[in-house]
Amino acid sequence: MAAEIIDGKAFAEGLRERVGKLAASFEKEAGRKAGLAVVLVGEDPASQIYVRNKGKQTVACGMASFEHVLPVDTPEADLLALVEKLNTDPAVDGILVQLPLPDHMDEQKVIATINPDKDVDGFHVISAGRLAVGQKGFVACTPLGCLMLLKDRLGELSGLDAVVIGRSNIVGKPMAQLLLKESCTVTIAHSRTRNLPEVVRRADIVVAAVGRPEMVKGDWVKPGATVIDVGMNRLPPTEEKPKGKLVGDVDFAEVSQVAGAITPVPGGVGPMTIAVLLRNTIVAAHRNAGIELAEGAI
Ligand code: NDP
Repeated sequence: MAAEIIDGKAFAEGLRERVGKLAASFEKEAGRKAGLAVVLVGEDPASQIYVRNKGKQTVACGMASFEHVLPVDTPEADLLALVEKLNTDPAVDGILVQLPLPDHMDEQKVIATINPDKDVDGFHVISAGRLAVGQKGFVACTPLGCLMLLKDRLGELSGLDAVVIGRSNIVGKPMAQLLLKESCTVTIAHSRTRNLPEVVRRADIVVAAVGRPEMVKGDWVKPGATVIDVGMNRLPPTEEKPKGKLVGDVDFAEVSQVAGAITPVPGGVGPMTIAVLLRNTIVAAHRNAGIELAEGAI
């Protein structure tokens, strides 16, 4: 039987609507808009598109967007000074520095300069630590988006076997922490994992965050499992697809015949990332202004 397709685009739209409502009530109560500052260094075309989209969606949700575009040869000290300024700017609730940064800059140092209470991307070591020990903080947008899709589809996750393929700091590790927090039995697989297909076959939940086109095959997946495909890979260009087809880390044609539910690529996890960024920003605004936001309000 074919799997249910998890519609990330529709879920992200609903999430943005909920953010918009909270942004409106926040503005009334705080007397100002919630604000997100995005800093871009250089002219990387993909980053420019992301930053533009983030700005547009922030404004569409009724929040203020502050965009700072710096030349590629900006000294690191100038970027750090800008981040420090944003840290103390009361109009700014969330700060995002678009990665990758130019080679002469130390990404970890720049991220470490962001005030963790404004770290809406969740990349600061304090944010990672807060997640690990179960304190309030910000969780990286992509894994949090995956968790939202999983809870929407499955409800209670407690006791389920979850396999996360990939152990990066921005996807795999926080994903595993989130699933552990939901009381899943979590396995983290990576490039040194032995018998990967066998490991994956045990899982009720599979999250693939590898960066290898269509790696997870149909016979790797337990019938009925829920499969979340984080991968975004471009296949080589063809006449039909001159830019190259966008595929995930999961062989969708095969796995969708076995799984209970699956996210497509595109239209699954991808649209969630910016929506969760906006969600984190409105949560940051409430926390920074000392306005109570009920647990699970968003
Ligand atoms: P990284 O390259 O940082 O991490 C990849 C992980 O996959 C590593 O832990 C690596 O293991 C593991 N891996 C590599 N090859 C294998 C293999 N053959 N078998 C098992 N594990 C393997 O990638 P990211 O986490 O940043 O991203 C993963 C994917 O998600 C990419 O396709 C990326 O484009 C996509 N992505 C999508 C986002 C979205 O918004 N939808 C956001 C972020 C990422 P090891 O540690 O041992 O090297």
